[in-house]
Amino acid sequence: MSFAKMQEALLEEGWFVGWNLPCCQSCAWSSLPYEFESGPNKGKEVDYSKVLFNHSQDCEVYIEGEECPDCEGEGYDMDTDEDCMTCLGMGEVSEDALDPAEYDTSVDGFVCYNPTDCDGSYFCFDGSKEGVENLKAILPIIEASGCEVNWSGDGDSRIEINWEY
Ligand SMILES: [Zn+2]
Ligand SMILES: [Zn+2]
Repeated sequence: MSFAKMQEALLEEGWFVGWNLPCCQSCAWSSLPYEFESGPNKGKEVDYSKVLFNHSQDCEVYIEGEECPDCEGEGYDMDTDEDCMTCLGMGEVSEDALDPAEYDTSVDGFVCYNPTDCDGSYFCFDGSKEGVENLKAILPIIEASGCEVNWSGDGDSRIEINWEY
């Protein structure tokens, strides 16, 4: 699977590569770890000019369906404030009921695809001059992992990376 390959290859280069960091772009940036918790860089400080990650909104599962009857579309249980178990916090139910075991539900309020179940995503990176140069330097590695890159090369536009799954 190409995302895993890319992640492994970039870790070797000292990059932090994350999937489904919490919520939106600003929450995700503020929840980046200070140091690598595992892998070949364990214990080393994360260099924020060498980070590549997406967030929950990027890999969220969209369901076109009907309003959930159990929570009336609110997505949470009004008594306990917990995510509604019928719709998994989506507020809607589809004909194919969602099986939480098949999705990444690590972030509260979101049901997200695992990288093995989608064919790509937009990613965040450091848009400074240094960050852009760092990213340009690893594009060949990303492509060698079997991923396809779609990016203008500007610091203020996000990079789209696709793979086959
Ligand atoms: Zn947010
Ligand atoms: Zn519900």
